[in-house]
Amino acid sequence: MAIRTSGLHHVTAIGGDPRRNVDFYARALGLRVVKTTVNFDDPGVYHLYYGDEEGRPGTLMTFFPWPGVTGGRHGTGQATSTAFSVPESSLGWWERHLAEAGVHTTRTRTHGEEEALTFLDPDGLRLSLVAHPQGDPRDPWDTPAVPAEHAVRGLHSVTMQVAKEEATTEMLTDGLGLRHVGGSGDRLRFAAGDGGPGALVDVLVTPDAPRGLVAGGTVHHVAWRVPDDAAQRAWREELLGKGVRVTEILDRQYFHSIYFREPGGVLLEIATDDIGFTVDEPLLELGRALKLPPWLEPRREEIRSALPALGLPDENNPEVAERAAQREAEEVEAAG
Ligand code: ZN
Repeated sequence: MAIRTSGLHHVTAIGGDPRRNVDFYARALGLRVVKTTVNFDDPGVYHLYYGDEEGRPGTLMTFFPWPGVTGGRHGTGQATSTAFSVPESSLGWWERHLAEAGVHTTRTRTHGEEEALTFLDPDGLRLSLVAHPQGDPRDPWDTPAVPAEHAVRGLHSVTMQVAKEEATTEMLTDGLGLRHVGGSGDRLRFAAGDGGPGALVDVLVTPDAPRGLVAGGTVHHVAWRVPDDAAQRAWREELLGKGVRVTEILDRQYFHSIYFREPGGVLLEIATDDIGFTVDEPLLELGRALKLPPWLEPRREEIRSALPALGLPDENNPEVAERAAQREAEEVEAAG
């Protein structure tokens, strides 16, 4: 077993109204919209990517926001909670900030060491902000509403809920190269690579819980990092050799992907670290314009006219961002 993932690449969930989705993730949580595109398999629906400034793997949360979507059900065979990493001293700030945004939060403690705030997004998706005691060196996206001091550093972990422990944990260790690092009873923790924030998964074993139903307000799949195409191809062969039914390699424009289900029913993806979000627009303008892959470009007008307006925040508007930078430069000069 030569191939090991270094951690989470992205989490993809199903949302409802796209405007409300942008309001929550870009404004309330302060993530950057790093790509505005469509679901390649169903271009009538947006695919919105949120992350840090560049949309680095491990900071990405993505949504298919379907207006009027039917709500799903949390249960086994799903990733039932997604956690983001924030600085240890920032939980109080987040408590106040989210309360002002009308979000009800609860203070919790995970594995006896991490303090966290748990809450729901507007579609009922379970989220938390976790203060990792070892800190998180990743650079955050800085917005007027969520200053860098407190901002989300990236993904922290996901919780996979399954009915049976053994087959799932075997897939995580033998199939993905994770190691068991803690937890006990019905909640076990596994880590990839260095095992810090962004490289953790909790397995919650609930034999009697109902099976989850993937629809609005639930996670669609969890993607893990692989450096490049060569490693992905080798990993795919290895999974096929173990009898795992893996898809062909799919071109997701910003990375390449393969998908398979772990034995507990959670849909997993292995996505490449290379390519990235500046492949079709400059860093300063990420997320602002509707981007389509070459094979959908001929249908641009038809696709664009069927999509609702998003109301992106000012940080996604280069003119506004430029004016803000200019003001800041003038202030620095005046102060100096
Ligand atoms: Zn994905």
